[in-house]
Amino acid sequence: MHAPPGIVPGFPAGRDVFVWRGVEAAALDLDFASPDRPTLVTDVLGACAEPPATGSDREDLWRLSLAARVGGLLAVLASTTRSDVLDRVVSCPGCGEDLEVSLPVALLLDLARSAEAHPETVVDGPDGPVTLRRPRGSDQRAWRQAGHLDPEAAVIATLVVEGAATDPAVLDTALAEFDPLTCFRLDVGCPSCGLRSGVPLDLEGTLLLDLARAQARTIRDVAALARRYGWSEAEVLAVPAWRRRTYLELTDWS
Ligand SMILES: [Zn+2]
Repeated sequence: MHAPPGIVPGFPAGRDVFVWRGVEAAALDLDFASPDRPTLVTDVLGACAEPPATGSDREDLWRLSLAARVGGLLAVLASTTRSDVLDRVVSCPGCGEDLEVSLPVALLLDLARSAEAHPETVVDGPDGPVTLRRPRGSDQRAWRQAGHLDPEAAVIATLVVEGAATDPAVLDTALAEFDPLTCFRLDVGCPSCGLRSGVPLDLEGTLLLDLARAQARTIRDVAALARRYGWSEAEVLAVPAWRRRTYLELTDWS
């Protein structure tokens, strides 16, 4: 088994590198159905950091860029599934055909690290250069709490470090290019209709969905093994996932 990957968040905190563990032992209490997605992401990262992030460490998770938070979720999922690729099915925008894609986890983690290394970008606005910074989890929390009437303009305004934000559309496009993990697009060619296109993929949402499935699977395992062997939840979770699988297979045969 390989060691769980870490993300270098680049914030002034007690720990330099987060080490992630799988969702199954760490996060059975998490409510993946929560409508407050930014808080859910912080909760998942906090529960799956080793050691768990609470207090000021949890605040540091909020201060991570959205790209780093996606990277953290990816690292947690990789620790959970022990898989090097993220398999996804997207629909061809031309003919609707299902397209299977395999995204290398290492490549996506590199994108997250690279995003952390470059927290700002300069774009050509209609009134001269504009310096933008990456959006952070704490921005999402503030935007959510503020309930702006014009959320897009308010969001862009908070990300302008220097210059005039007169045209939100230009800055919006610049941000999408600057932040490939948060505005993720897959360049796919369709074998059925031949269309080559950029298909948007909500990486954060799809990772949360996978983690929710892993959590549900663990809870099912706990229930089955507790019933079969009379173990407590803590006893079942102390058994590595691969051995739990073996015990469950034995249960099927008996
Ligand atoms: Zn097609």
